[in-house]
Amino acid sequence: MLQQTTGSRENLKCPLFLKDTNLLKCNVSKISPFSMLTILRFSPLFLFWFLILLEPLAAQTKTPFVPRAEFSVVLDPGHGGRDSVTRAKGHLEKDIVLNIAREVEKYLVARGMTVVMTRNRDEYISLSQRAAVAGDVFISLHANSVADSIGPSVRSMIKGIEIYTDRNMLDGKLVTKSKELSMHFSRQLSGLEGISFRAERQKTLAVLSRNSSPAILIELGYLSNDEDLSFLTQQRNYVKLAEAFFKALQEYRSQNHR
Ligand SMILES: [Zn+2]
Repeated sequence: MLQQTTGSRENLKCPLFLKDTNLLKCNVSKISPFSMLTILRFSPLFLFWFLILLEPLAAQTKTPFVPRAEFSVVLDPGHGGRDSVTRAKGHLEKDIVLNIAREVEKYLVARGMTVVMTRNRDEYISLSQRAAVAGDVFISLHANSVADSIGPSVRSMIKGIEIYTDRNMLDGKLVTKSKELSMHFSRQLSGLEGISFRAERQKTLAVLSRNSSPAILIELGYLSNDEDLSFLTQQRNYVKLAEAFFKALQEYRSQNHR
């Protein structure tokens, strides 16, 4: 039974009014906060108010939303600065790999990938500094050569692209992913015109073994071989390499990155 308007408004028990058309006769200004809460408990709108009041608290306790980054590729042009290593007919390995890396970077960025270069000019960067640059994949770029003492007939036979994974990577998952990455690159680079594909190999390489990303090292050809040197010093071939890189990365990405 509802209390009717016979009593003073202060005495009205508001919870009961909720079932009464005389609700509006309740002097809301006299209702204590506790009573208001009691009223709300019976209100069909209770859940609504409950959620409204808790929303700021819930927002604080939720895991913050972090937008998913694009697929990121670390390109590591080998050597640089005082470290130039291989030289052939006036061409330095450190310059060739930097020029190729810049072309690959441009190509990948234009197709929506994020690229981080471990160096973008002629400077010395230690192997530890290079390996510390993290991404979804890490690709170190080099060019090979054989000793000058080796005769021209043998030099002409030793040529082509080689891809290395590290045999001392400790994390089993990284080893597996690095081998997958190597496989996709070997497939795409094998199809290039103008340069042959020599082998996939394993070796102990600090820039790979210290890495926290799936990582490979590509020897893009032998500067000691005339055909390879010619391929690697012509800018128009860099686009072919960049396209093969992109295809290999797309294949890897489609299997590993959603
Ligand atoms: Zn090198």
